[in-house]
Amino acid sequence: MSLAQGRPYLAIPGPSVMPDRVLQAMHRASPNIYGGPLHEMVETLWPDLRAAACTAGQVAIYIGNGHAAWEAANTNLFSRGDRALVLATGRFGHGWAESARALGIAVDVLDFGTGPVGMDRVEAALRADRGHAIRALLTTHVDTSSSVRTDIPALRRLLDDTGHPALLAVDCIASLGCDEYRMDDWGVDVTVAASQKGLMTPPGLAFVWYSDRAARASASADLRTPYWNWTPRGNAAEFWQMFCGTAPTHHLFGLREALTMLVHEEGLPAAWARHDRLARAVWSAFDAWGKGNPAIALNVADPEFRGRSVTAARLGAPHATRLRGWTETMGGVTLGIGLGMSTPEDPQGDGFLRVAHMGHVNAHMTLGALAVMQAGMGALGIPFGPGALDAAAAVVAG
Ligand SMILES: *Cc1c(COP(=O)(O)O)cnc(C)c1O
Repeated sequence: MSLAQGRPYLAIPGPSVMPDRVLQAMHRASPNIYGGPLHEMVETLWPDLRAAACTAGQVAIYIGNGHAAWEAANTNLFSRGDRALVLATGRFGHGWAESARALGIAVDVLDFGTGPVGMDRVEAALRADRGHAIRALLTTHVDTSSSVRTDIPALRRLLDDTGHPALLAVDCIASLGCDEYRMDDWGVDVTVAASQKGLMTPPGLAFVWYSDRAARASASADLRTPYWNWTPRGNAAEFWQMFCGTAPTHHLFGLREALTMLVHEEGLPAAWARHDRLARAVWSAFDAWGKGNPAIALNVADPEFRGRSVTAARLGAPHATRLRGWTETMGGVTLGIGLGMSTPEDPQGDGFLRVAHMGHVNAHMTLGALAVMQAGMGALGIPFGPGALDAAAAVVAG
């Protein structure tokens, strides 16, 4: 007997749950790519994509995933041998650094493990770079592996206070549409994202927003290639230039519907507030469970530095892996693996898991996932403290 019949819930941090409306918008015959409704619809995407990142800057769309977005940003920003400073608070910061290094960029990584950025170390690195060799500072907004959130306005202040001219580039793949993010107000030069997380659309679209300052700096970047060059995509005179070839037709119709839901119907501030409330419900449950089992703890101690779209937590090896198995096969809830959290004592990372509360999620999905997790801990004999579901419901009640 399994209790997993019914609609399954994929509660991993991307790909996220797709709204039926997005799926239905994609369910259509191939549109003509040379004119007509597709062209008219795509014109409406640009203002909404700018709104999603709170910017008046340009945006380029690529057929690709988050790794493509990294490569797009890197090739437009850098020449071979240029220096980049990468702040890593988990697996994805290192991923962006690896992408840059493989292209021939000289990368310095400030490694914060799976914890928050220490601004003093960033300041020291910027001050030490007297010749201003660092061309850009690359950072995640939320690192999906650790669920650490980085204070982007604080980085801007640091660049200004130290008088360092480096461009500021931010990976919002896990946070766009979930965590408050204001590209222009926060003085960000480049933002990267992808379709399959907060934007509720299947994997396959990568986005790069860039400021005028970044556009000017990129003019001399010798890593640019025709396909990755953001200029024709961001300022296309011809439709085919927007996508450097055939448009990702069906993804674009899905994205149109998702942006209607996020930007026009719910509104970004309400979406940010929803993610904040659901995240706090998850945190309160883990805090209560941890009171009865010291092995259970959130990865990020200070709520200020926690992402609102995903929560990484420790259960102690091998319980996280066992629990994920139970919730999937018995409860219909698939939780995220503990990515990049392995230790010498736990080489497979069986002690960590991640709960996504990202994109098309609501109170019953998050409370349901927590209840299934608690049922699984009971069934598997994993000790936990009482009151977690009451605590989560109280957070949802507000
Ligand atoms: C998911 C994710 C990526 C990688 O995206 P892919 O689509 O898997 O290439 C990069 N950075 C962050 C912060 C992510 O959450």
